[in-house]
Amino acid sequence: MPSKAVHNSALFVSAMSTVGYALLNGCQVEDVLLPCFGLLSGVFITPDHDLAESRWSIWQLYGKFFSHRGVSHWPVIGTLTRIAYLSPIPIAFFAYSHWHFPWPLFGKWLLWLCIADIVHVTLDIVVSRFKAIA
Ligand SMILES: [Zn+2]
Repeated sequence: MPSKAVHNSALFVSAMSTVGYALLNGCQVEDVLLPCFGLLSGVFITPDHDLAESRWSIWQLYGKFFSHRGVSHWPVIGTLTRIAYLSPIPIAFFAYSHWHFPWPLFGKWLLWLCIADIVHVTLDIVVSRFKAIA
């Protein structure tokens, strides 16, 4: 299993590559902020929360429900389980603030978070296979 630092570095490189490619192809800075934020969100909303390493982590209960590299590592489905797990926080915020939930922005962010998870899972698979033959 790649370390947390390797996963975070891969997401950072993915985000910077996406931003660089988009800017070089005429996108405006404001157009690349959301993809960059979505990819880097993968550092904090990682599939490896199924390990529940920290006893006092907000992810402790998530780690009890999901075994390591099980559903939590399924592309899209795993991402949605973590979003559902965290959903009481924004639901409470928007219920009390009377603001409208920004669905279009959320949808775009979620798409990039799914891509971040695909980067994570791909790295897990590649490193596991490499270790198996090494
Ligand atoms: Zn993993």
